[in-house]
Amino acid sequence: MDRCAEPGLPANDRFARALRDVYEQCLPSVEGAVADYIPELAAADPEPFGVAMATSTGQITTYGDVDREFTIQSISKAFNYCLALELLGREEVQSFVGAEPSGDAFNAIVFDPQTERPFNPMVNAGAITVCGLLRRALGEQALDFVLDRYSRAAGRPLRICEPAYRSEVATGHRNRAIGHLLVNVGAALEPIDPTLDLYFQLCSVLVNAADLARMGATLANIGENPCGGDSVFEITAVRDTLSVMFTCGMYDYSGNWALDVGIPAKSGVGGGVVGVVNRQLGIGTFSPRLDAKGNSVRGVRAFQCLSSEFGLHAFDFTNYGSQFVNDVLLKAPR
Ligand code: GLU
Repeated sequence: MDRCAEPGLPANDRFARALRDVYEQCLPSVEGAVADYIPELAAADPEPFGVAMATSTGQITTYGDVDREFTIQSISKAFNYCLALELLGREEVQSFVGAEPSGDAFNAIVFDPQTERPFNPMVNAGAITVCGLLRRALGEQALDFVLDRYSRAAGRPLRICEPAYRSEVATGHRNRAIGHLLVNVGAALEPIDPTLDLYFQLCSVLVNAADLARMGATLANIGENPCGGDSVFEITAVRDTLSVMFTCGMYDYSGNWALDVGIPAKSGVGGGVVGVVNRQLGIGTFSPRLDAKGNSVRGVRAFQCLSSEFGLHAFDFTNYGSQFVNDVLLKAPR
């Protein structure tokens, strides 16, 4: 498809049309089921679907239910890791959590047998370890600090969904077990409860698909929010975070995601997916029905379509799409 060969339409309209086509292709997918481990997710309306793309020059194009809020869940893990890297440095962070894909489910109770550390920060064990590091660096201020950074990346104040948070606390026995094992192997410090609390709170932050696109665009723009130039994330921490998102961000579908879609991404069981095309785009999708691995069915499909239509794969051999984004969007007048 050659979107660039539609000279009659202004640049942004051509892009909006392409996004609408992707939305319409993916909307009929009604396979999968909403997460049901807490009432707030089990009761979620399965139907909403939104797709948003934000450029590293500050434009946003959206289609569908992009204002509908949902809990960020595991997408928080990517941003938390970025902040831990900034606060403590890669070497210190790596002494507590590795960067190897595990191939196991997100909530697996398994550590790297060589190091006795969680495999990576995108599985629960690694993410709880990262929350311990954030607590260690920031103490009681950790929640406010992290929420402020999320908000500055999204470009609006974000807040926690209290009922979801309370449910996470009430049902989080497996995460609590992981937390205690982390203390046992020395990957987390006592007391573990405030660390788990921070983990549950950050999973419960409310976002929408447009927020995810803007947060992704902030990563794509090497840590600076493209709207207004606020410096939100540290540049080398962004590089490391995107690397781990690329290899570990989509649960145990991460390897095939790298083949199919080929961009750093992170998904959460609330139905959101954030993807990053380095130096070009942040992409956010929302649709609550999940596949067996925990990824949003329509979200994965939308990313597959966007990647192939725009050639967003990191190793795309024609690089046509990236060129399209570059010519049509990044150079278009705002
Ligand atoms: N709150 C969820 C848990 O820790 C997050 C799961 C996810 O989004 O992967 O189990």
